[in-house]
Amino acid sequence: MDTNMDISAAREHYLDWLRDAHAMEEQAETMLKAMEGRLEHYPELRMRITQHIQETRHQADRLRRCIEDAGGDTSLLKDMTGKFMATMQGFSGAMASDEVVKGAMFSYAFEHMEIAAYRNLIAAARLVGDATTARVCEEILAEEMAMAKWLEEHMGAVVSQFLARAGTNPGAAKR
Ligand code: MG
Ligand code: FE
Repeated sequence: MDTNMDISAAREHYLDWLRDAHAMEEQAETMLKAMEGRLEHYPELRMRITQHIQETRHQADRLRRCIEDAGGDTSLLKDMTGKFMATMQGFSGAMASDEVVKGAMFSYAFEHMEIAAYRNLIAAARLVGDATTARVCEEILAEEMAMAKWLEEHMGAVVSQFLARAGTNPGAAKR
């Protein structure tokens, strides 16, 4: 650890990153709910998404508490949402004929962005001496890794189901 670290500057960045993570979770919830609401013919994927929506809500709640405990202003939280909106809509593929494949692919990428964010937050929390938040972020990280792993193990089946249906029943294949 750099002993010359300016602790107040470090804490400012740390609080920003916690707020970014909270915004990321709110956006995740929006995206996952949209997918959950549209999926009809992929019940296994839909069920895993439903589970991750519950996890995501709990993650946002825990982050909010961490921000409050660290002395951060939670009234600013709402302003941050929508930041990821444009990117998400561009990638989620809701208008695509292979919507389910695009959605699974985007979800997989999104989980890895979350994994990166929590790895960074864990490092920062330790450096500023916030052991409680470091532990919360480790718990959240484990949930993101489990979701990424599930997608890793099931995306191939989604692709093969999609391709099997695409010719004869494109409507069922799509979502
Ligand atoms: Mg999350
Ligand atoms: Fe996630």
